[in-house]
Amino acid sequence: MNEFELIKTVTHGAPAQKDGLVRGVGDDCAVISGNETKDFLITTDALFEDVHFKREWISPRTLGRKALSVNISDIAAMGGKPLFYLVTIGIPKAFPLKEVEEIFEGMANSAFVHRTALIGGDTCSSANGLLISITVIGDIDRGKSIYRSGAKIGDSVYVTGILGHAALGLACLEKGIRSLEVREFIRKHDDPTPRVAIGQWLMSSTCVSSMIDISDGLVSDLNHIAEASNVEIKIFANQIPKVEEFAKAANRCNKDALTLALTGGEDYELAFTVSSYKKDLFEKMMKVVAPTFGHAVTKIGEVTAGNGVKIIDMHGANMHLTKGGYEHKF
Ligand SMILES: [Mg+2]
Repeated sequence: MNEFELIKTVTHGAPAQKDGLVRGVGDDCAVISGNETKDFLITTDALFEDVHFKREWISPRTLGRKALSVNISDIAAMGGKPLFYLVTIGIPKAFPLKEVEEIFEGMANSAFVHRTALIGGDTCSSANGLLISITVIGDIDRGKSIYRSGAKIGDSVYVTGILGHAALGLACLEKGIRSLEVREFIRKHDDPTPRVAIGQWLMSSTCVSSMIDISDGLVSDLNHIAEASNVEIKIFANQIPKVEEFAKAANRCNKDALTLALTGGEDYELAFTVSSYKKDLFEKMMKVVAPTFGHAVTKIGEVTAGNGVKIIDMHGANMHLTKGGYEHKF
């Protein structure tokens, strides 16, 4: 049973209707109606030692910052603004108090950057490793949340930033490679930047029909949009943003750069679709505002009739995922 089948199984039978609930299980955040002008967004995410991180790979401060940042990323994926956070921490026996303080300092650091306030939580002892569970509450203009389910045939698909760097960073950590040339990839893995500013801009642009943050990998996350919107998404492999240094470093780690970009997780970039009739307007606006965001925004594909995600090579042929990565099929 995979994670998504498990979610379906365990949520089946639970009450899922309630006055004030705008959107429940199944998107980056739940949406609850607030007042005449705002809706609230709620999301939660946990990091478990030896599942999501190894203590010898990441400092307590960076771990704390990451734990909050990845939650804020889900608020960004709806187009919203983070407001408050709650933290539950499970602390193993003999865990240094100083490191607990550093974890919270790291969270506070991300909280200052994103103007988010700590409002509660719980601390307990843990029999097996450190665990950090965070809930973030945000808000958004009423009725303006961008869901996974809004993509339409003819829409264009875009991503922010560069993909695959965090996955290469993780591969380097796993292989014990710490050289200067890979340090930036490890940093991308350890210390992601949630795309809050552009998420809010995309919401206010009114051009975006669906959005998700890339936590599991581009193909996997776009599959959620394809499924929720009942469409097919075509990605053009040669339009995936590339950085030469990245391809070289990936080669040295015996990894294929394109496969990392398509399947690597934890980039926390945003993937979104732009309505076909607003594409020209969007491209014009993007030219003006893009430099202010400090990261790329790249068109990588289109929404078509069908289901799932297809990767198209430069000759127009489907590429298929094999054990070794994406391959052309002749
Ligand atoms: Mg998400």
